[in-house]
Formats: sequence, C-alpha cells, structure tokens
Amino acid sequence: MNLSEMETFFSELGQPKFRAKQVFVWLHRGVTSFEEMTNLSKPLRRELEERCYITAPEVMRKQVSRLDGTIKYLWKLRDGNCIETVLMSYQHGNTVCISCEVGCAMGCAFCASTVGGLVRRLTPSEMLDQVLFTQMDSGRPISNIVLMGIGEPLDNYDTVLRFLELVNAPEGLNIGMRHISLSTCGLTKRMEQLAEENLQLTLSVSLHAPDDETRSKIMPVNRSVGVENLLAACRRYFEKTGRRISYEYAMIDGVNDADWQAELLANRLKGMPSHVNLIPLNEVSDSPLRPSKRVRQFQRKLEERGVNVTVRRRLGGDIDASCGQLRRKTVEGSASKKTNG
Ligand code: SAH
Repeated sequence: MNLSEMETFFSELGQPKFRAKQVFVWLHRGVTSFEEMTNLSKPLRRELEERCYITAPEVMRKQVSRLDGTIKYLWKLRDGNCIETVLMSYQHGNTVCISCEVGCAMGCAFCASTVGGLVRRLTPSEMLDQVLFTQMDSGRPISNIVLMGIGEPLDNYDTVLRFLELVNAPEGLNIGMRHISLSTCGLTKRMEQLAEENLQLTLSVSLHAPDDETRSKIMPVNRSVGVENLLAACRRYFEKTGRRISYEYAMIDGVNDADWQAELLANRLKGMPSHVNLIPLNEVSDSPLRPSKRVRQFQRKLEERGVNVTVRRRLGGDIDASCGQLRRKTVEGSASKKTNG
C-alpha cells in the first residue's frame, strides 16, 4: 500500500490518519511484526495482526565476492520461491540490482535468468523488500537502484510502477528517480506507455545486435518487433522524456562482434542521443556462447563514428553475480545446476 491507501485503510478502521504514516515509517525501518510498532496501542497492534501481514524475505544464502566485495543474496519469498539481489559498491555509493519476476519469459539465449521460464511476477512489496532488507542486512546505505536482476520489468509493468512510487516516497526510502535505472529487452508498447509517465529514471535497452537476423536468433522478443521498430520506439521515448537511452550490448564471440555490426549500430543510432554500454559476455553454464575477444576493437569502431561507449565493469564474477548469471532457484536448489562454494 502507498501512504494514501494506508490512510484510507486506517480511517475505515476508525483511526486517525496519522496512524498510516506511523506504520509506513515502521515498515520502512524493516520491522517484521506489528508488535514492534510501539507507538501504536496494544489493541490496535492486535487488530492489525489479525487483518494484515508484513512481507519479509528470508536470507537463504549470502555470498560476498572476494574480488570486489559485491554481495549476492538469495531470498526466500513467502510462497517458497527464491530470487536473487546483488549489492555493488562504488566510490559514488551503493547500487542494488533487484529482480522483478521469479524466472523470466523472454528466453534470451545468453541469459541464465530465463532457464525454466517464468514462474510468477513479484509484488511491489517483494521488490521494495529487496532494497530495504539488502540495506539492513549489509549495513550499506543504498543510493542507486537498477532493475536489472531476474525478469523483465516491463512484463510486470503495473507492479514496477507501483514499486517506483513506493521507493520514491519521502516518508519511505526516498530514492530519487534519477538514481534508478530500468532495463528492458524492448517491449515497445510498454516503452510507449512508460514514456507517458515522464519519469526521470534512466531507461536501458538490451539491444545486443543491430541487425534482425542476429537479434532474432539470440532474443526471441525481436521476432515480433524488429530492430527498426525498437529503435523508432527509443527515438519517441527520447523525444517525449528528453532522457537519453542507454543501450546494452553483450559481446558474444562470432555472433554480434563483427566490424560490420559496429558500423551498422553506429548508423542506426545516428542523430539519437545515446550511450552504448558494452558488456563482456558472462559465461552461463550449459550455454555454447562464448565471450568476444573483440570488445576493444568494437568499442574503437563505435567511437570513430561518434558513438558514446563504455565497457561495463564486471563485478561479483566469483559468485555468479554478474549480468545474466542470476537464476531462479528453488529451496532445494533444483533449478540450478551450477552451485557456488
Ligand atoms: N529483462 C531485462 C532486465 C535484465 S537486465 C533486460 O533484458 O534488459 C540484465 C542485463 O544483462 C541485460 O542487458 C541482459 O541482456 C544482460 N545479460 C544477460 N545475460 C548476459 C550475459 N550472459 N552476459 C552479459 N550480459 C548479459
């Protein structure tokens, strides 16, 4: 519930409005029972206990990278499903990478999150809890959020928007939209809808290939949209919001790393303020795809043509916490063939 829904709820209980704010603040301190809400009367605490519940994920596993201190959490949700969250620390602050679905329906060939398909979508509170409980458990204040974990955010659109509203609330975590990035494989209708919301967040689009033949091979979503339509939607998004789009491009050996693809990419982005983020492919077990050895050449080709490019730093490589390595896991671990020490 957002604050105004909580206010309605409390007025229906015959309680003053300010109760809502008290409870909202308690929840954002991460309390997991109404008993802990000591500024509420005992009878009210009991009534809330009877009518409501508080979601709280359970830490099933916590791994800390020896290389860079990145932390990966495996959380168990109320229904027993498990999801992963990653916390990365940079000089400018701590960024949490959160999941929005249990599994993923998009089927990208290079991504572990899609193995086993989509189980269910998360609720807004399950998304918010990842931020809150990661912050509490790690003791590191979170300044940035990326919706780049398991799942496709625009496939869980209403929930993601509600999550954004909650995480943005001044009485809650108060994380500004400019500190949030949302990554999509390119669901164009939803991108149009998102443009209408006019949010100050950063939209990242997982492009991964500038030509339909390659993109459709590695990203099934492309078969119904196509690169041209996708980039047209990106252009409209920029025109509407004024926000420059970031394009993710995982470099795969012999698939999308040829010079002609860099040239085509540069041509297709011409005239559109954009930023390309090259991601050295992270290896996923059971996948025949290998990391490209041409990342620097590809970067140079793009730069020569005036494209803004960066290469994504790999964090948490020793704990399988890098892009594309997050997996849905069951409590028994049966959805995961790969295990970590
Ligand atoms: N479904 C959303 C959110 C996932 S974000 C999306 O597709 O954008 C995770 C990012 O990591 C995406 O850009 C995704 O394409 C990329 N990725 C997936 N598997 C990868 C891998 N094995 N190596 C590098 N990047 C990968």
